[in-house]
Amino acid sequence: MTHEIVVASGKGGTGKTFVASNLSFYLSSYKNVSLVAVDADVEAPDLLIALGGLRRKLWEYEFFGANEPVINTERCTACWKCVELCAFGAIVKGDSTPAIDYDKCEGLGVCAKLCPAGAIVLRPRKTGCLYAAESSQGILVVTGELELGGRNSGRLVYELKSRARAMRPEFVVVDSAPGIGCPVVSSVSGADLLVIVVEPVPQSLRGAQRLISVAEQLRTDWVVILNKYDINTALADRIATELGDRLVGTVPYDDSVVESYASMVPILKYRPNSPAAVALSKALERLGGDYGWW
Ligand code: SF4
Repeated sequence: MTHEIVVASGKGGTGKTFVASNLSFYLSSYKNVSLVAVDADVEAPDLLIALGGLRRKLWEYEFFGANEPVINTERCTACWKCVELCAFGAIVKGDSTPAIDYDKCEGLGVCAKLCPAGAIVLRPRKTGCLYAAESSQGILVVTGELELGGRNSGRLVYELKSRARAMRPEFVVVDSAPGIGCPVVSSVSGADLLVIVVEPVPQSLRGAQRLISVAEQLRTDWVVILNKYDINTALADRIATELGDRLVGTVPYDDSVVESYASMVPILKYRPNSPAAVALSKALERLGGDYGWW
């Protein structure tokens, strides 16, 4: 059975990839479990980098996340109905047949459905890729990338998670996108546990509250790690009181985190005795011991 743990934060820059990469390293190195890490931040993937970068690719697929219309000019009768119907102005009159501006096309397919001559067909459009790799730290990572303006990030995340689960590891650790948009909902959906990383600033707290409501709607268990708690101890104390036993650990601000990130080595390996590494280890031990997740 695979346990799926998602690490998310309602706001970027709170330390989500820091926690996800170290959790992946912790489980595979200290708990000896089989694990696949998933980078679900498909618009700005960096989990593979945080885990040492690419050692070797295992497989790669193209991702077709949208459709695009193609006009059969021999069938087209130049009635210009498609030009009138396209709500996005993506089809314009050409010399004898319509021309399509694919940058404006949303791929909804109204033109193909309503063309009286049946001259428009939809074909799948490549909007990204997904691949599995072994990182230089020896951790399997399934990751993907959306092309510029690529659509359907939620579906790409679903594909990434499905392919990671198909590898049948004991744990899948998902590094979610920031915010609570489509890829985040797709990350949390079907997961066993959501680890929310929050820092004591109002924007992060607001994002975390929104994430909690997503988790509760999707019936996903959730806990919180309070990162950089000492940048605002008054708010950190308030958050700790409100969260009670949902708060599994507090991690101090520590320059070693930035150094480990720049070195592409998880801090638990890079500087295991640093204040942040010690505090994070304690939180992860608690998640295993007191909370029984591993
Ligand atoms: S609706 Fe069909 S037949 Fe009419 S202009 Fe467009 S492609 Fe041609």
